[in-house]
Amino acid sequence: MHRNFKNIDKVCYGRGAFDQLNDILEPKRLENDHFMVFIVDYYFKGKELEKLIPVHEEDMIFFEDVDGHEPTTEQVDRLRDTILAEKGKPSGIIGIGGGSIMDIAKALSLMVNNEGSSSLYQGLNLVKNPGIYHLGVPTTSGTGAECSMTAVLTGPVKKLGLKCDWTVFNQVILDPELTASVPRNQWFYTGMDCYIHCIESESGIFYNEFSRAYGDQALKLCRDIFTGDNSGQNPENDEKLMIASLFGGLSLTYSEVGACHAFSYGLSYVFGMRHGFANCIAFNHLEEFYGDAVQEFKDMVAHHNIDLPQNLSANWSDEEIAKMADVAYNLPHMWTHAMGYNWEKKLTKQYLMDMYRKM
Ligand code: NAD
Ligand code: ZN
Repeated sequence: MHRNFKNIDKVCYGRGAFDQLNDILEPKRLENDHFMVFIVDYYFKGKELEKLIPVHEEDMIFFEDVDGHEPTTEQVDRLRDTILAEKGKPSGIIGIGGGSIMDIAKALSLMVNNEGSSSLYQGLNLVKNPGIYHLGVPTTSGTGAECSMTAVLTGPVKKLGLKCDWTVFNQVILDPELTASVPRNQWFYTGMDCYIHCIESESGIFYNEFSRAYGDQALKLCRDIFTGDNSGQNPENDEKLMIASLFGGLSLTYSEVGACHAFSYGLSYVFGMRHGFANCIAFNHLEEFYGDAVQEFKDMVAHHNIDLPQNLSANWSDEEIAKMADVAYNLPHMWTHAMGYNWEKKLTKQYLMDMYRKM
């Protein structure tokens, strides 16, 4: 069966594109109860960007704190209940922030039209009704959350996305100026999420020409941004990384992520480690899966003086390691991509635990 994937409906890209947000929203304001909901990364509270957000009198704006923890089903449920109780059904949801805010906005747009907790819908095609109009404005580059079919949430029993066609944004505004303020470590870790998406996409059985076309271009952009003389955070690279993120996301949407993301999910679930950072902790030890790319990654870490922590496992208990191995093992689509359909014959939880002990 070939994928039949849903892409973003509309994309507006370029420096200053954020200025078009008000005009883009105008025709949508006639829908439902005639108000917009803005979900904004708390980082921007009191910053210059806050003044530029086109909030009308009837609108609602929430500044969500995503520092140090990944979005949860409880957080999305709370927002949905507050909005419906106070004002009714919004015309649209606008997310302004990094991957965490993108996921909250995507999930919220679905949950406005679906009953019960969002934890009921963590999985593939479990959402019953289409959501409402939603628009994403990423302020970090790398996750691919701006184009993916999933809204990743940590729930009471698992970290898993609400994945379906309706999750995908109706519109994104990609304005590279918004990423200029990302702190250097965060810039690197989120950027490496993109690099790792491309490497994982190409290293498995679901790879194909569609994924190659996007992935090769995204990798080329990553190498411009993270290696060589012109590497680093600058306006030109901000423009490149925003497109690399989108293309990396499209590459993996038509292929799959693999072992690194499986390990990373375990780390995020048990320790709440941020996605890009957790990927880097895992990727550093995955020569067996990704060969030369791991050395290239290490060179990039050194080139940007990133102090990637070593030997974290010295402080992990056996229970924590076993729990991470469980989480990682229960991602069959990733292992199928990385190891083939008979992965269960080759992969053991003991191996996963041993790998975690190296991190
Ligand atoms: P993030 O959204 O968690 O933000 C990281 C930090 O950067 C936060 O402290 C935030 O306040 C700050 N920040 C964001 N934009 C900023 C800016 N312009 N200037 C200064 N600070 C800024 O980080 P992320 O790496 O973008 O996203 C990680 C999240 O994305 C994880 O929760 C992960 O699960 C999710 N994710 C989702 C998908 C998907 O397909 N849906 C894919 C990959 C990752
Ligand atoms: Zn990722």
